[in-house]
Amino acid sequence: MRGIIVRRRLHYGITRHVITRTAALANVQGTHNGMDGLFGMQHSASRRAVVIGGSISGLFAALLLERHGWRVDVYERSGGELAGRGAGIVAQPELREALSAAGIGDIGAVGVLVDTRILLDRKGRELLRLPCPQTVTSWERVHRLLRARLSDARYHSGMELKRIDTSGELPRAEFANGSSIEADLVIGADGIRSTVRQQFFPEARLEYTGYVGWRSLIEERAFSAGTHARTFWTMAFGLPPGEQFLGYPVTGPNDDLTPGSLRWNMIWYRPADERELSRLLTDGNGRVHEVSIPPPLIRPEVRLELGEAADRLLAPEFAEAVALSPQSFLQPIYDLESSRLSMGRVAVIGDAAFVARPHVAAGVIKAAEDVLSMVVALDEEKSVADALQRFQTERLAVGRRILARAREMGASYRARPPGSPMAPGDHDAAYARSVVEDTALTTFLRQPA
Ligand SMILES: Cc1cc2nc3c(=O)[nH]c(=O)nc-3n(C[C@H](O)[C@H](O)[C@H](O)COP(=O)(O)OP(=O)(O)OC[C@H]3O[C@@H](n4cnc5c(N)ncnc54)[C@H](O)[C@@H]3O)c2cc1C
Repeated sequence: MRGIIVRRRLHYGITRHVITRTAALANVQGTHNGMDGLFGMQHSASRRAVVIGGSISGLFAALLLERHGWRVDVYERSGGELAGRGAGIVAQPELREALSAAGIGDIGAVGVLVDTRILLDRKGRELLRLPCPQTVTSWERVHRLLRARLSDARYHSGMELKRIDTSGELPRAEFANGSSIEADLVIGADGIRSTVRQQFFPEARLEYTGYVGWRSLIEERAFSAGTHARTFWTMAFGLPPGEQFLGYPVTGPNDDLTPGSLRWNMIWYRPADERELSRLLTDGNGRVHEVSIPPPLIRPEVRLELGEAADRLLAPEFAEAVALSPQSFLQPIYDLESSRLSMGRVAVIGDAAFVARPHVAAGVIKAAEDVLSMVVALDEEKSVADALQRFQTERLAVGRRILARAREMGASYRARPPGSPMAPGDHDAAYARSVVEDTALTTFLRQPA
């Protein structure tokens, strides 16, 4: 089997052969009716991996490792459904390939096809219209596809990792309920505030970018006929000075792809310095929430201000979307750059490893490709530690590249001191074109670094 491996550079900096091998594996499984694949079987059939976090990267890790012969258990802190909390995501072309490598093949449409981008000014005049075919979907849909593929017996919810004990030969994950488990490999897929990262790589710190995103999903049927006809089927941008509004259609509740039952995902980036952020995060009882504030606790005056700002700054179609979003949620935007991703038999992937502002829209596919890089290295290297070292080298480079690009794209939305010059707005045609042309495209990763 190893003879069929062809090394080619993959878009995100890993080699193409992982896809080739996994596709071959799927065929083998089809005829042998077994879960353990041939690849990696020789040296990993008895190996056990523990994955902390049961969201997108944790599930990708579990499914890929299983297909490479590992016994995997996922431990997720949340006791309930994760699915209801998501919003829209741009499904980069590589997502289908990554899903297929995880054993999720014939799924029909991943999401909704949008082929046009438009830019509207404050009065609703169309400043720009560009062709740009892309699939857009919801976090829920991707999560559901992955979760459905993993056996319930391997997914342990309500399990919060406290720490990993590395005093023994193998790392031991210790949970808040007092239980613990030893494994040959422990993967921290535990997101932006990763417990694993904070224990092993405490030098990596979240950096607040100086702006927030207001996000919501709006039922397709709620829009007026005029707004629906004009904007619903597009990726629509608004660029008030120093801000950015973006919207596009996504799947309806329960993955419904029927026109009429879809939803529109909106995100409105607005500058907010530290002081303003803490004001936005303060609830009606004066409590300042640390990371994010639950939508029902956002004070009415904050929502009122948002509606007024929408009427003042955004196209009427976008102001309508804001008005239709009484439960929009506030997402402070952070960067996270890591200098290490692995130590011995422990590694971090996905948002636990790197967080880039959302303008590149690479979070999901980066998570998937972190895992693809890791499974190839585990198959090919002599030891887990060597494999994780190689994974680290490959993925640090890609993470840094995505982060640099996202920082560059988000630089205009940073909070500015009062009286300083305005950031480029819809009066700056070159800037506006670059935002509309470049947002949510990962083509730069296919160019040489
Ligand atoms: C609910 C939700 C909705 C999202 N929606 C979008 C979206 O609409 N668009 C988009 O681009 N991105 C979205 N993201 C982020 C996007 O999914 C990520 O960039 C990408 O999927 C990689 O995520 P991740 O799995 O690395 O981290 P996350 O999705 O953040 O998952 C981390 C998981 O680890 C669990 N966890 C954390 N600490 C512990 C612990 N100590 N012990 C056990 N478990 C722990 C968390 O409960 C969580 O489920 C969302 C993330 C979440 C959690």
